[in-house]
Amino acid sequence: MSTAPCPMCDRWKVDADLRIAEFEHSYLTLNRDQFFPGYCLLHTRQHQTELFHLERLVRQELMEEVSQVAAALSACFQPDKLNYELLGNMVPHIHWHLVPRFSSEPLWPRPIWAEPHQELLLAPEEYRHRCDTIRLTLQDLTR
Ligand SMILES: [Zn+2]
Repeated sequence: MSTAPCPMCDRWKVDADLRIAEFEHSYLTLNRDQFFPGYCLLHTRQHQTELFHLERLVRQELMEEVSQVAAALSACFQPDKLNYELLGNMVPHIHWHLVPRFSSEPLWPRPIWAEPHQELLLAPEEYRHRCDTIRLTLQDLTR
């Protein structure tokens, strides 16, 4: 484990306006750049770098959390496909990029990283509305 500051460990505290939901093993936040509408980050509560470092039960429950979020994003944004990206090359703390994807995008069907795009930042009330919408859908689906 590195002693350098980890932006993912601080994310829930620092990016309070992007908070969507807390799970037993993870936190869900909206990505600041909303070029891909509904793009979220799900990161583990524990600072770990690899899935295989987690205890089996934690890993299984975490995958359930990932799946619940994907189902909620799918219901909210009705994409053609959900993308799940778990890389960790830049920030080695387990986190998924959960991205609703549409066949109408210029980048389709390539990964979101295939070429640079103009960042799309929202107004504060738009962030709040988007986070609320995803949170309420999650609550509906997991009730
Ligand atoms: Zn971390």
